[in-house]
Amino acid sequence: MPTPTPPAKPPSPLDKEQMHGLRSIREFLKVRTSYDVLPLSFRLIVLDTDLLIKKSLNILIQNSIVSAPLWDSHTSTFAGLLTATDYINVIQYYCQFPDEMSKLEHFRLSSLRDIEKAIGVSPLETVSVHPMRPLYEALRRMLKTKARRIPLIDVDDETGREMVVSVITQYRILKFIAVNNEHNTVLLKKPVKDVGLGTWSNLVTANMGTSVLQVVNRMVKSDISCVPIIDKHGRVLNVFEAVDIIPCIRGGAYDELSASVGDALCKRPDDSPGIYTCSPDDRLDSIFDTVRKSRVHRLIVVDDDNRLRGIISLSDILKYVLLYGEEDDNN
Ligand code: AMP
Repeated sequence: MPTPTPPAKPPSPLDKEQMHGLRSIREFLKVRTSYDVLPLSFRLIVLDTDLLIKKSLNILIQNSIVSAPLWDSHTSTFAGLLTATDYINVIQYYCQFPDEMSKLEHFRLSSLRDIEKAIGVSPLETVSVHPMRPLYEALRRMLKTKARRIPLIDVDDETGREMVVSVITQYRILKFIAVNNEHNTVLLKKPVKDVGLGTWSNLVTANMGTSVLQVVNRMVKSDISCVPIIDKHGRVLNVFEAVDIIPCIRGGAYDELSASVGDALCKRPDDSPGIYTCSPDDRLDSIFDTVRKSRVHRLIVVDDDNRLRGIISLSDILKYVLLYGEEDDNN
């Protein structure tokens, strides 16, 4: 994901205004903490690493969540975050070692690291942040490791042990920026295409008849979390997301991955947020308006005929907001 660089020509008044808006948002993120993002009351489901992988799927589905922090009760330590990527790894394991299907049934969450090793993927760096550190720091850490969510870990004063306070996502942070910074986001008036926000070429797509397994393989190969589903004219029909895998393999039904994406999308929960589109001429301020009002996880850029032009993920937006025009990438 390349960092967009500012144009070499002298900045126009629009450029200056945009840069002022971005800098003000960065200042805001430096004086807010991850605690500020948390709602007054929230629920946190932590899963024990002794739990069977198969059962973890049911728990996520029953509680309408797509990830959970893991807890090793043998050592009383935080053991990473369970996400859709872990299930994608399990699917890859199943494909590489089909004879081990019966073993897969008995795998526990503690086996996830062994599965990573067996299929040869490098383990995701488990980043975490103290909830009282600046939000800017949490975001920089997320962008550096490509994490879409970050656990907030504190230490219990009495026992001296780690405790998981909550998990914040890119979505929550972007919403927090949008809700609290309307006076700054209105300054972001340049069209998304002009600032190079998102990905506009080599887009990975599928059609309704593509199998779920093929789509998963495309996601793994390109390290992406969504694949737009298009018709033969390139018009966008839907988007298959990494989290759509979870209901597909409920109960350990790995052999059903040969079903089509069209069938898999019917298994989406009823409260699924749907897809959000924008045009190449839309400005970042209108995208922030959408984020403020809706549950947006990415925007699919389409032309007037609904044909796919690009993809703007939340990480693209956050990367732009944090890093555009920054000379020193490491500060
Ligand atoms: P995400 O996986 O959504 O966080 O996106 C990671 C990066 O991949 C971002 O720069 C996206 O713009 C890009 N991206 C996401 N989905 C696709 C896709 N289907 N084809 C090509 N690039 C993508």
